[in-house]
Amino acid sequence: MDWDDLQKREKEFMKGGKHNLRHNISSAGVSDIAGQFFCEYKVENAYTLGEVPTEATSEGTSFHDELIPQKPISREGFIKLVKQKKPTFAVLRVWGKLGDIQVIGMPDHIVWNEERPRWLVELKTTKGDPTTLWPDQRAQVVIYGALLEKMGFDCSDLQLAVVRVKAKDLSDEEKMLWVMLVSKHLAEGRIEELEAAHKGKMKVYVLKHDVAEAETAVRAMQGYWLKEREPYSSTSLNKCLACAYRDQCPKSLTRSA
Ligand code: SF4
Repeated sequence: MDWDDLQKREKEFMKGGKHNLRHNISSAGVSDIAGQFFCEYKVENAYTLGEVPTEATSEGTSFHDELIPQKPISREGFIKLVKQKKPTFAVLRVWGKLGDIQVIGMPDHIVWNEERPRWLVELKTTKGDPTTLWPDQRAQVVIYGALLEKMGFDCSDLQLAVVRVKAKDLSDEEKMLWVMLVSKHLAEGRIEELEAAHKGKMKVYVLKHDVAEAETAVRAMQGYWLKEREPYSSTSLNKCLACAYRDQCPKSLTRSA
């Protein structure tokens, strides 16, 4: 990787945005695009009404921080770390053009080896059954992988994983060692063993890195950002019942329930 060139291209990318997407932004967030797969109106509400804090989201954020603790390092420190022969862990902002829009995001966890991303991992905490992979979760991790490749990283051996966890059921020690535990089992191909040891509380979905799938996912959603159409709203009462905006959302199906 030519790190100076990457830095130059990133600066140009950030400067090149024209604030011409919906909500006057230059780049759509990966998590927002993924959110459109759940309910596009929820993304719209987050912009127009602001984030609504709920017990579930603040609990999810605190589990997230416990399981993947992060501290900032310098650019030089990052480069030195990811160049190593042994697997190392570090994340960086990912960016690039997919479909007809600029996209930007921050993955949860990346395992590196000699400047090559080997595993890109998204952690999804849940209170319920972890054995379902939702379309938004799949889209999110596939888009992150595609952006890494667009940035110029060698993604020929990249694999993607979504790990769904009932974090509440993990012991303090399991939480503390979570990153090491998951990374090691992924790298050694011992996923079944990891799941068996955490039966009912952890499920690992391994996905193929696929830029074409990411392009298709973004193209399916970009009309909203390009202001070509108004946001779709959920047709599922259960989604609305579980939604933080159910009492404020003009499209909430709970009104007629
Ligand atoms: S209440 Fe229903 S329609 Fe409104 S944002 Fe939530 S899920 Fe979407």
